[in-house]
Amino acid sequence: MVAPAAPSGPRVLLRALREIMAGSGDSQARLDKTVRTIANNMVAEVCSVYVLRAGEVLELFATEGLNPDAVHRTRLRVGEGLVGDIAAHARPLNLSDAQAHPSFAYRPETGEEVYHSLMGVPILRDGRVCGVLVVQNRTMRHYTEEEVEALLTVAMVLAELIGTGGLLGGDELAQIHGHAAAPRQIEGKTLAGGLAQGIAVLHLPRVEITQTIAEDPDAEKDRLNSALRTVRLSIDRMLENDDIGGGEHRDILETYRMFTHDRGWQSRLREAVESGLTAEAAVQRVQVDTRARMSQITDPYLRERLQDLEDLANRVLQHLAGRTTTAADEELPDQAVVVARSIGPAELLDYDREKLAAVVLEEGSRTSHAAIVARAMNIPLIGRIEKATARIDPGDPIIVDSDHAQIFIRPGEDVQAAFAESLQNRAERQAKYAALRGQPALSTDGQRVSLNMNAGLLVDLPHLRDTGADGIGLYRTELHFMVRSTFPDVDAQTELYTKVLDQAGDKPVLFRTLDIGGDKKLPYIGDEKEANPALGWRAIRVGLDRPNLLRTQLKALLQAGAGRQLHVMFPMVADASEFLTAREIVEKEVNRLKAAGTGTPKDIRVGTMLEVPALVWQLPTLLQSVDFISVGSNDLIQFLYAVDRENPRVSERYDRLGPPLLSLLRDVARQCRDADVPLSLCGEMAGRPIEALALLAAGYRSLSMAAPNIGPIKELVCSIDINAAESYLETLLSSSEHSLRSHLQDFARDHGISI
Ligand code: PEP
Ligand code: MG
Repeated sequence: MVAPAAPSGPRVLLRALREIMAGSGDSQARLDKTVRTIANNMVAEVCSVYVLRAGEVLELFATEGLNPDAVHRTRLRVGEGLVGDIAAHARPLNLSDAQAHPSFAYRPETGEEVYHSLMGVPILRDGRVCGVLVVQNRTMRHYTEEEVEALLTVAMVLAELIGTGGLLGGDELAQIHGHAAAPRQIEGKTLAGGLAQGIAVLHLPRVEITQTIAEDPDAEKDRLNSALRTVRLSIDRMLENDDIGGGEHRDILETYRMFTHDRGWQSRLREAVESGLTAEAAVQRVQVDTRARMSQITDPYLRERLQDLEDLANRVLQHLAGRTTTAADEELPDQAVVVARSIGPAELLDYDREKLAAVVLEEGSRTSHAAIVARAMNIPLIGRIEKATARIDPGDPIIVDSDHAQIFIRPGEDVQAAFAESLQNRAERQAKYAALRGQPALSTDGQRVSLNMNAGLLVDLPHLRDTGADGIGLYRTELHFMVRSTFPDVDAQTELYTKVLDQAGDKPVLFRTLDIGGDKKLPYIGDEKEANPALGWRAIRVGLDRPNLLRTQLKALLQAGAGRQLHVMFPMVADASEFLTAREIVEKEVNRLKAAGTGTPKDIRVGTMLEVPALVWQLPTLLQSVDFISVGSNDLIQFLYAVDRENPRVSERYDRLGPPLLSLLRDVARQCRDADVPLSLCGEMAGRPIEALALLAAGYRSLSMAAPNIGPIKELVCSIDINAAESYLETLLSSSEHSLRSHLQDFARDHGISI
C-alpha cells in the first residue's frame, strides 16, 4: 500500500508541470511526460488522460501504466463506463473497488483488470468538461480528500494544455465547445411577448482563465483575499442600502453574505491557491467541488443554495478580472439578446434600448417589475430558461420566440426560415390591429369599452397614437426616478410631466404618484432593511411619512396640468383615511399655487389604486370621496392569495381566474357602478385575452395594459357579447374549482370570440 501524497505534494507537482509546459516537445510529448510525472508524484501505478473529441467521445490520449497500445484506440462515449460517468456528471469519483461499480465498462485492450482502486476527476475548461484525468492502483485503497483535491488542481493545468489546441485541431475544439456546437431549442415562460433574433450577450460576462499555475503564489493569495473582501463589502453594502429587489433577491444576497463569511468556503479557496494555482484557477477548482456536491443533493432548497455559491464564485471571478459592471456598460452588438440569471428593473433600464432586442432569464415571473419594464419597453422577455447562462455563449446567434415561450440557440436554416415566417405572420397580425386603430372597442351587444395603455417612460408615448389607445390608464412615475441617481427636483419633474401631457394631447393620463419600495428601490431613498419589503414601507406609506416628497411631486403634476385636466392616483392605499389625507395634501397644494398666482388644472380628478384587499370593505366610505378607482391586479393578487409576485415558485400557483378573485372584482365593479364612480383595471391581467374576457364579464368597461396588447384585446372586445359573458360568469362564480379558465376558454370558442 502506498502512502498518501505529502501536503506539499500539489505545489511540488505543479512546479514540475510548469517546467513540462514551458519545455520542449509537441503537445502529445508534453502530455506523455505529464502523466508520468503525476503517477510518480501521486504514487499511482496508473495515470491516464482521456480527451473529449467531437461527437461526445472520450479518447485515451496518454497513459502511464495501462497498455500503451490502447492510446488513441480506447474510446468511451460520455456517460459510458466510469470515465464517461465522470464526464457526464462533471464530478470526481473515488472508488476503492472500481470493478464493482455498476458503471464499470471493461476494455480488454487496456489491461486494467489488475487495478482495483480508481480516482478520476473531470478536466474542465471555462466550466465545461474537456477530458477526464484518472489514477489507478492495484490495491483496494480509498484515496484521501487531499489526493482528490490534488488531482483536481492538476486537472486545471491539463485543461490549459487541451484548450490551447495542440492536441486537437482548432476546428474540432470549436466544434466541441464553440459556435459550431449543435443548435438547441429550450422551452421557458413568456414574461413579455414578442419575437427577436440577435446575438447573445451575458449580463455578467464570463471570465476566461488564461493562466492556471501561479508565478507568485503569495501574490495570488493577496489577489484572492482582496477580491473576497471586495465582494463581501459590495454585498454588505447592497444589503445595507437596501437598493435591491425584495423577497427572493434579498434572500439570495443574504445567502451570499453567509457564504462570503463562511470559513469553510474561504479556506478551500485559500488552500487551492496555496497549492500553486492562480486565484482564478483556484476559484474554478472549488467550483468543481461545489458542482460535485450539488449533483449528490436532491433537496431542491439545498441545491439552490449551492447554486448561489456558484454565482458567488462567479462574482469573485468578475472582481479578479477587474470587472464590476454589467454588459450594459460595455459595447453592445446591434440586436443584443441579454442573458442573465435574473435582472432588476433598474438594471434592465440601463441597457441601450436601441440595441436591446430581447432578454432571456433563468428566473423571472410575469408580474415582476423587470417583466413590466420589458413590456413597457416592448422588449420580448422569456424566463425560466434552465441554465441559460451556462448553455448560451456570448456571441451565439439566438432567436427568442417569446410568444411561444421558446428560444433557439445557434438556430439552423430551417428554424431561421420558420422564424422569418413567424415574423411575417406577426407583421400581418400587426397590420390587422393597425386597421382597428381608428375604430372604437365596441362589443357585439353595443357596449363601449375603454382600452388604455400603461406607460412609464417618455419613449412609451408614441404608442398612444400607433395603438389607438384611448388614453394612459397607468403612468408609473417611479420609472423616471429609478433611472436617475438623485431625486429630481420640482422643476425637473414639472418639465417631464408637461412633456407627457403635451404628447398625450387630448387623451387622458392617469398619473400614479411614486410607487417605490418592494422591488422598486431608489438608491437615494430608504436605507432601512426590511424582512418583507412587499409588505413594508412603500408607495403611499412613503408619501405620507415623507410629505415633502409627495408635495414636490404633486406640485410638479399640478403645474404641468395647468389649464388642462389632471388625473392623479395613489398607490397601495390600504385604508380610506390614507386616501383622505393624501387628497387633502393635493388640495393644500392647489391652494398654495393659487395663492402664489400660479396656474392650476382646470379640472382635477383624484383617485386611488385598489391593490390592498382591506380597501374593498371600505368602499362605501371611499366611494363618496374618490373621483375614480383603478384596480392594480398584480398587487391585489399578491395580497389576496399571499403569494410573492416576485417569487417564481409561488407567483402563479393560484390561477387569477379562480372564483375568489373574480367574485371580488365583480363586487367592486357593482359597487362602483351603483355609486357612479369610474372604475378601471391596470394590472397585467388586463392585457391577456381570457383574463380580459373574464374582466368584461365581471363588469369592467375600462382596462389598461401594455401597449402591444391593445390590438389583440380590441379584436376580442369587438367579437364578444358582453351581456352573454356576464350571465355566463355568474353561473360559474360559486364553483369550488381552482380555476374557471377552461370554462371561459370553451365559452370563447363556442361564441366565436377572438382570443
Ligand atoms: C398592480 O399592482 O397591479 C399595478 C398596476 O402596480 P405595479 O405593478 O406597478 O405594482
Ligand atoms: Mg402595484
